[in-house]
Amino acid sequence: MSENTENIIRILPDFIANQIAAGEVVQRPESVVKELVENSLDAGAKVIILAVKNAGKGLIHVIDDGSGMSRDDLELSVKRHATSKVFSSDDLEEIKTFGFRGEALASVCSVANVEIRTKKHNEPHGWQLSAEPMKDISIEPASCDKGTQIFVRNLFYNVPARRKFLKSNLTEFRYISDTIIKIALAKPEVRFTFYDEDTLIFDVRPSDLKERIVNLLGQSVKEALIEVDYQNDFLNIKGYIGEPHLARQSRTGQFFFLNSRSIISNSLAHSVYSCYEELLDKNQKPLFVLNIGIDYSKVDVNVHPQKNEVKFDDERFVYNSIKSAVLKALNSHQLIPDISLELAQAANPFTKVSDGSSQFLVNKITGEVVSSFQANRDFQNDSSGRNITQTSYSRNAFDDIFGKINTGQDIQLIFPENLKDIKYHYFSGRFIVAVFGEYNVVIDQSGFQQRIIYDRASKNRKTGAVSVQDLLFPVTIEISLNQKSVLEKSKSDIESLGFKFEIDSENAIFSGLPDTVRQGKEEETLRRFINELSTIELEHVSDLFDKICTSYCEAASIKNGFDLNDHEIRDMLSSLRNYKIPVYSPRGKKSVIKLTSQEFYNKLFFSS
Ligand code: ADP
Ligand code: MG
Repeated sequence: MSENTENIIRILPDFIANQIAAGEVVQRPESVVKELVENSLDAGAKVIILAVKNAGKGLIHVIDDGSGMSRDDLELSVKRHATSKVFSSDDLEEIKTFGFRGEALASVCSVANVEIRTKKHNEPHGWQLSAEPMKDISIEPASCDKGTQIFVRNLFYNVPARRKFLKSNLTEFRYISDTIIKIALAKPEVRFTFYDEDTLIFDVRPSDLKERIVNLLGQSVKEALIEVDYQNDFLNIKGYIGEPHLARQSRTGQFFFLNSRSIISNSLAHSVYSCYEELLDKNQKPLFVLNIGIDYSKVDVNVHPQKNEVKFDDERFVYNSIKSAVLKALNSHQLIPDISLELAQAANPFTKVSDGSSQFLVNKITGEVVSSFQANRDFQNDSSGRNITQTSYSRNAFDDIFGKINTGQDIQLIFPENLKDIKYHYFSGRFIVAVFGEYNVVIDQSGFQQRIIYDRASKNRKTGAVSVQDLLFPVTIEISLNQKSVLEKSKSDIESLGFKFEIDSENAIFSGLPDTVRQGKEEETLRRFINELSTIELEHVSDLFDKICTSYCEAASIKNGFDLNDHEIRDMLSSLRNYKIPVYSPRGKKSVIKLTSQEFYNKLFFSS
């Protein structure tokens, strides 16, 4: 039966196989999706279609127009350590970085029913392989289009423990959609089509990166993307960052790629945040889609194969390169002053030189040669990069007060007969200090308001007394795919807060809002709420309302920097009747505390 056409798969030599850490390839439906789609890309596909059912637990179906496989290759493709991508131990460098371990299909076949249909372009017909765990595979001729289609059905049906370990459909679906979005952002030249059950989630045609970002993250980002294009001797950084107003309360808008493969790195993300330090609130995270292009033979990288966490040998160098790239881009849009840019450059005095066989780090300013090890140690001691732009002192003092003072026993405040008799001082846009007898009570305006809204919403829900404010003119908010799926899947909980809304292909249309939404802030609140929602990690359905409600409170509360008037402040003081001090925000941060005068003094005048 064997066709005598270019067979390209070989079995990895044992010694290489043994060098490869035996990791678990398939953890959840998302890992299957990732492996299959990456295979399609490796096969040179220009069009990839992904369809999932039951969040990938029922079916994962990937169709590509790539090279296809010969009959013999098809047969080998599902064998462990069968790969067309690694031929020598030199290639292990690549394995270490991103992994062509030749075990994805074999692993998938051991935990699901798999069917593969494939045809090479120059062959008269294709082949169909059927595989079931513990059974012999069968291969038959089949008529099919050029390329490969893989069906993965009933994942983990034969491993109940693994199946049980999977999370809710909403969460598993979100893992999948996050992954396909990341891959689609990394490969704008490829068309991706994604279906959930029979619903088209997206169909993005080949384009440049900017258009791809807009297609996936929404039209609203279009006018607010700033191009990043930076190069030094060792790496280049290209992509887009968002203007400050695109920032979100979560990490959902952050995409790092290393040579077009998605990676995660807290330290590199921090490098980007630090550039926005003066432009954003502490909890806001800027949007970015950045690819780091490096030559693996010049820069040492370790990637955790499943988690995609990267560790650069010379982390600080990459950190500072990203910082320079982002500051340069912000500076070109007049968002930050020239001085920040110069300081950043001065803060990166190291450059790498190579004498052919080995590389050294050289301090450009002192001319001193530092060994890589030495340099890394220094970097770690000073890894925050915070010295580069000024930090805000008031912010630190505030955090100190709320974070460290021991608030002692819970206390109930004693109110004067007349609310007007309460004396307070307002630190504009931030916190209120009010005097209740012997206590000075310090209120963080945003956190406390969140607590108030939260408690009201839960009470209303319990009593069924949800108050909806009908809108004369419905508000339409454009939503991303993730947001759409979250809104759909948690509709009833959202409605129990007092929202009324419909969803169409790209928008959520709100016709009613809870009465705690501030007038004139409807649209802003909705946007924040939806952004918050898309970050919820929904493990247990019983948690759903709490998480949604917390997101809502965050979105609806007054922000720091917003000045309250006397009436609003007294309203807040009056709400204190219902609480014991300290009060915590729904996210568990201290929001109202009491301080004695002595504690105030110690904190502000006594400590360093
Ligand atoms: P790896 O990708 O690490 O080589 P896999 O188990 O994922 O290992 O795939 C095994 C082999 O099957 C690949 O090396 C490739 O030759 C072939 N293959 C898998 N998927 C496709 C596809 N969509 N199109 C063409 N060939 C494929
Ligand atoms: Mg693979």
